[in-house]
Parts: sequence; C-alpha cells; structure tokens
Amino acid sequence: LTMASGPSHYTPGEQELPVQLTSMEEMLQWAQNWARSKSVWPLGYGLACCAIEMMASAQAHYDLSRFGSEVFRSSPRQADLMIVAGTVSTKMAPRLRLLWEQMPEPKWVISMGQCANSGGEFYDSYYTVQGVDTIVPVDVYVPGCPPRPEALIEGILKLREKIAKQGLHIRGEEELELATK
Ligand code: SF4
Repeated sequence: LTMASGPSHYTPGEQELPVQLTSMEEMLQWAQNWARSKSVWPLGYGLACCAIEMMASAQAHYDLSRFGSEVFRSSPRQADLMIVAGTVSTKMAPRLRLLWEQMPEPKWVISMGQCANSGGEFYDSYYTVQGVDTIVPVDVYVPGCPPRPEALIEGILKLREKIAKQGLHIRGEEELELATK
C-alpha cells in the first residue's frame, strides 16, 4: 500500500509527507502520528521574558489555535509539549526535569530563546543552566532574544513535521513496553 500524502486539509506551507505503508498496523500508526502532530498541547512553563512572547502567540493576533496548540495546560499530566521559554536557573533545573518526567509519553520539548538554548550571552554564569538540553532532550530550538511569536509558531510547525515524519517509532513507547513486560 502506498500513501502519497496525508488527509487533504494540511496547513499551507507544510510539506506533504510521502510514506510507504506496508500493513494495516503501519497505516494506523501513521494516522496516530498525523493526529498527534495536529494537536500538540503545551505545558505553560514561562521562566522569563520569552514567556511574554509565548503568551502573545496564543492571543487573537497570532492565533496559535490555527495549529491546534493553544491549549496551554497547567498540569504536566495533560501536556505533551514543554516549551522552555526563558532563563533556566540551576535551582529551577531539578523542577524542570521533574515536570518533564511527569509528562506522559510521547512528549516533546521546544527550547525558546537564547537563554534556554545556550544560557545566553549575558547569563554565562554559575547560577544559569548553559542550555536546557543538558537536562531534557530538546526537539526544536527557536533562536532569538526574545524570539517573536511568529518564530515560536514556526518552531511548532517544525515540530509538527518532525512528529508526522517520526515514522513508526515513538520515543518512550519502547521503554513503556519494557516496563509493562
Ligand atoms: Fe529574556 Fe532574551 Fe533570555 Fe528570552 S532569551 S529569557 S528574552 S534574556
């Protein structure tokens, strides 16, 4: 079975995703990935000035709901995307890791802004984590100080592409299978 593309109503600008599907199981898993990529729910996790831009992205002007990701959750149990928006202090690091661990699989992380990406130029200090990817795995990096809402939205679109192309392996599902055996 060859499926040339996903269902017809994809977002303009997104690539069609050609996939070779050889069984019903693969087809169902592909559909699952496709659905997941269209409804990624972020955890509200603003840490500094970048959070203002993150909040703006969900307001009417930028309208993140066009892409199914406006539902910011207060509980990590209800979120599958952590947007690290701001400066991560060393005191905050264990809490950030704990919140990430409390999110159910599959889950993804966007690092927003130079502070989260690398510690930043003016936060090269003993009390700031030099890149959130030293604590949790990052899927997409959004550059800027701060990145504009459009940049964050582009990051979310990149993540959607990544999820849809993730193939038939979802990070965490293997570990879940091992844990339940
Ligand atoms: Fe603030 Fe810039 Fe750091 Fe974002 S990257 S938290 S805007 S200093």
